[in-house]
Amino acid sequence: MADQAYCVKCRDKVAIAGSEKVTMKNGRPAMKGKCGKCGTGVYKILPTK
Ligand SMILES: [Zn+2]
Repeated sequence: MADQAYCVKCRDKVAIAGSEKVTMKNGRPAMKGKCGKCGTGVYKILPTK
């Protein structure tokens, strides 16, 4: 199952291509990747636990 994120260009939820787990400056985990449709960089904030 592919991770999904909101793409601002497609204005839709898209599958993340080349997703990579990263930690943002505020310490929150996020998924970083590219939109599978248009290649725009997308982020998905992961729930903290
Ligand atoms: Zn897109």
